Amino acid sequence: MSILTLENIRKSYPDGEGGLRTVLGGVSLSLERGEFIAVTGPSGSGKTTLLRIAGTLLEPDSGKVFIDGQEISPGEDHSLIRNRKIGFVFQDHRLLPQLTVLQNVLLPALASAEKVPSETEKYALSLLEYAGISSLSGKYPSAISGGEGGRVALCRALVMKPAIILADEPTGQLDHENALKIASLLGKVCDDFGTGVVMVTHSDEVAAVASRKIGLSSLND
Ligand code: ADP
Ligand code: MG
Repeated sequence: MSILTLENIRKSYPDGEGGLRTVLGGVSLSLERGEFIAVTGPSGSGKTTLLRIAGTLLEPDSGKVFIDGQEISPGEDHSLIRNRKIGFVFQDHRLLPQLTVLQNVLLPALASAEKVPSETEKYALSLLEYAGISSLSGKYPSAISGGEGGRVALCRALVMKPAIILADEPTGQLDHENALKIASLLGKVCDDFGTGVVMVTHSDEVAAVASRKIGLSSLND
């Protein structure tokens, strides 16, 4: 079953001269459970826009988005489905510097509860172990490496047991070896948890880890 479906998504932005510039001209995509899709394309081709639309952070001008079978209707608040069904990973990892690694991983659980349940904390610790960084749980982001930060960000994205992970250039700031390690870990997550992953990347080698590759092209050149 498809856990994420995009149907004929179109999106334009103001071009700064009173007109509109089309960034996505009718993109369709279907992500299955456990599938790993890499999205590639030149800078400005709309990769981040596509991921934000898939993640209910941005509405398309037209076209439909379905998450785990549920249609995302325009104009409504989708924060609940976003928190429950989608894990996000960003290029700069966006860890909060004043929180420890474990507290960062637990952050999405605090969006829906005042206090983190003890089983969620146990699960977060098991994720850190899964990612090979359990020894870092009490450290602060300033004391860990970029590659480790990527792993923490991935654990945080997984803590709500999402159906989908959307990763926007998660390896963009990492050296070659760490980039491939994060991509392999994402692939393992697909196999082990049945999570569907959409990952934007500039690297052909990183994209090769995915089971399928989708290329976006610039519509304005
Ligand atoms: P990519 O991630 O592939 O580099 P983006 O989706 O970030 O591409 O952006 C695609 C194009 O849309 C770029 O030319 C960008 O400048 C433009 N764009 C993105 N967001 C906005 C916005 N909020 N307003 C106007 N233009 C935007
Ligand atoms: Mg981008």
